[in-house]
Amino acid sequence: MKIGFIGLGNMGGPMAANLAKAGHAVTGFDLTAPMPEGVTPATSAAEAARGGDVVITMLPNGQILRAVAAEVIPAMTPDAVLCDCSTVDVESARAVAALAAQAGLGALDAPVSGGVGGAAAGTLTFMAGGSDEAFAKVQPLFAVMGQKAVHCGTAGAGQAAKICNNMILGVTMVATCEAFALADKLGLDRQKMFDVVSTSSGYSWTMNAYCPAPGVGPKSPADNDYRPGFAAELMLKDLRLSQQAAEAADADTPMGRLAAELYETFVEDEDGRGRDFSAMLPRFEKRNRA
Ligand code: NAD
Repeated sequence: MKIGFIGLGNMGGPMAANLAKAGHAVTGFDLTAPMPEGVTPATSAAEAARGGDVVITMLPNGQILRAVAAEVIPAMTPDAVLCDCSTVDVESARAVAALAAQAGLGALDAPVSGGVGGAAAGTLTFMAGGSDEAFAKVQPLFAVMGQKAVHCGTAGAGQAAKICNNMILGVTMVATCEAFALADKLGLDRQKMFDVVSTSSGYSWTMNAYCPAPGVGPKSPADNDYRPGFAAELMLKDLRLSQQAAEAADADTPMGRLAAELYETFVEDEDGRGRDFSAMLPRFEKRNRA
């Protein structure tokens, strides 16, 4: 397939490289990032998109996505599909899909889970919103870049799945970290805490697969001085998106709100910026009851 790829940063770079390695003709554009191996450089987003069967975007936020979409949609071939893999607000995803539909194009919002490691290894999970036709057209590319793609529903459904998943992740990480800090104060050995919880009803991905306590459980960013992994500021971004969506949809999400507030304090007023989101544990260690 002929593919335009816009946004070649930490995630987009390796995703585009994997598509090129699989034999697709990939033309790329980024404002600053280097061109990945096998990708033909374009001088603008519109040039990267021109003539593509599928145009993929992997950008920082919804505002940038809307601006890039407004530039590339007029340059795209009828029946081509615009597939955004960034994590953005549901409203931006739906606005871009509507703009694409007006121009006779297909559109998917297809955010990913799996991080930079998954992007490099081609093992991402995609969660997609859009038509059956658009999903079928992009599926062979999902198969190159990832190990699983779930068609979640119509436009915006992929972003909805992503922010709901990550709201659970943020809330669960906070709960796991505060429980470890409480266990410390109660004199409970961390390894014993892990042995019990990881096989009891408190188990979770944050405890069992990504344990925030160094030296306990499988290897995780906690064992690497909390270098990310998944940075606290990206967790904050996703928690803010879930709160924005909850407000727009009139959904009551008190735990999500509290997790968003905690990560905001951690990133903006404490030492969370640039650290993994599991560094909430040393943060709780240092604090007493407010
Ligand atoms: P990044 O900052 O490394 O990459 C974004 C790229 O977009 C940059 O290279 C930037 O130069 C480029 N860009 C910005 N504006 C542009 C424009 N107008 N035209 C062309 N290029 C432009 O970020 P990332 O880590 O690759 O994340 C990308 C998206 O993936 C984000 O929405 C993020 O939330 C999501 N995501 C990231 C991870 C992760 O672990 N990094 C995991 C899942 C999802």
